[in-house]
Parts: sequence; C-alpha cells; structure tokens
Amino acid sequence: MLLALPFWYHVMFAMIFGTIWGSFIAALCSRWPRGERVSDGRSHCDDCQTPLGAKDLVPILSYLWLRGKCRHCGHSIGISVLYIELASAAIGLFAVLFLSGGQALAAAVFGWLLLPLVILDYQKLWLPNQLVLALAIAGVCAGAFLTPEINWLDRILGGIFGFLALEAIRQAFRKMRQVEGMGGGDPKLFGAIGLWLGWQGLPMTLLLATLFGFLCIALAFALSRKSPQQLPFGAYMGMAAFSIVLLA
Ligand SMILES: [Zn+2]
Repeated sequence: MLLALPFWYHVMFAMIFGTIWGSFIAALCSRWPRGERVSDGRSHCDDCQTPLGAKDLVPILSYLWLRGKCRHCGHSIGISVLYIELASAAIGLFAVLFLSGGQALAAAVFGWLLLPLVILDYQKLWLPNQLVLALAIAGVCAGAFLTPEINWLDRILGGIFGFLALEAIRQAFRKMRQVEGMGGGDPKLFGAIGLWLGWQGLPMTLLLATLFGFLCIALAFALSRKSPQQLPFGAYMGMAAFSIVLLA
C-alpha cells in the first residue's frame, strides 16, 4: 500500500525518517564510545546534563535555531550532529531518487545501517561487532530486495569470500610489516557487504574504497601537508558500497 503512494510521499517519508534516524545515530555515535548507552534515560546536554525537551530534539531544525549551542549552558553541540542528520536524510533521498519500490527501501536500509559504521570508523577507527552483525543479518533478510539478480549461493559466497579476502590481506600485512595495517573489523564489514551485494559486487567496492582512500589522503595532504597515520578503510568501504548500489 505504501508503495502505491505518489512519488513525493516517498521522498518526504525517506527524508523525514532519515533525519530522525540520523539524530538517533548521532546520539549513538557520541555516547557509545564514551561507554554510555543510547537507551540510558533521556537525551541530555553533554556538558551541563540538563535533559533536553521536545524543542531541542527536532532533527536539523533544533540545531539551526539553537545555533549549535545548548540553550542552558551555551556549550556548543558538535556540528557533526547536523552533518549526520543531513547525511542520513540524503541516504533516504538518494535511495528513492535512484531506485524505486522495494529496492529503494532496501537501499535506504542498507545506507542507514552503514552510516553509524562509517561515522565510528571515521571518528574512532572502530567498527563495532554488533553493528556489523546487524548489517549482515539485514543483508540475509533484505539483500534479495536490493540485488534481486544475485542468487543465494552468490550472496553466501560474497559473505565468505569478502571476509576471507580481507582477512588474508590483513594477516599477510601483519606478518610482513609487523604492524597492524588494517583493523579486525574491516574483513567482517566486507563480508557483511558481500551478503548484500553478492561476490560480484565486492571487487568494485574494494576499488572504489581504495579510490576514496587516495582522495582522502590527497585532500589531507593538501590541507595539512601531512598524510594521515591510519585510514578508516571501513568508512571508505561503506561509502563505496552505498554508491555502487545507487549507480549499478
Ligand atoms: Zn548544556
């Protein structure tokens, strides 16, 4: 029934749900690394601990009319909250613009599950197992809506080969260089992506992720004359996988 609604309803629904989801993800990504749980009580200011009211919790708009500051203590709310909400809205928007029906919905779910992984890897070089597992389970349940041309065998092979390929590279790198070149979460994430895209989607994901990596190094070098020490390769893989889904 939902799918029979006019196109503009899809756009609106995708963007509204996207911002709400983004606001939840922003809270998750700021609280989880500090050891707090998102479900612990109401949202509160990180600085003065004043609980936030309904007016403070409207995604995007709250940030804009509070000008990025807590109304009680003036503590600045990180701009990343706004970026995450906008990115999440954009995921929903792109999904319905580029795809349609169940495929658009599955693409949005794929993007929304990748989003916290991209953020946490980018900010903390951390790909929590729970989030990778959620992405993998969703891939088993909804992957067929996103990539209907991929059969079950190819999907399962994608999961297995995705994990094994990056794990082999990771181990080889560690043996050769005696340092950790890649986080342990990267192979798991690549496997989870394989469950969504099938093994056929993996080479392109890797290629595009490497390209994003080079672009980020070039950009960082241009801005600060330093190349970054550690690269959030999982974040690049997440962005690559979502781009492939839209453009395929
Ligand atoms: Zn405050």
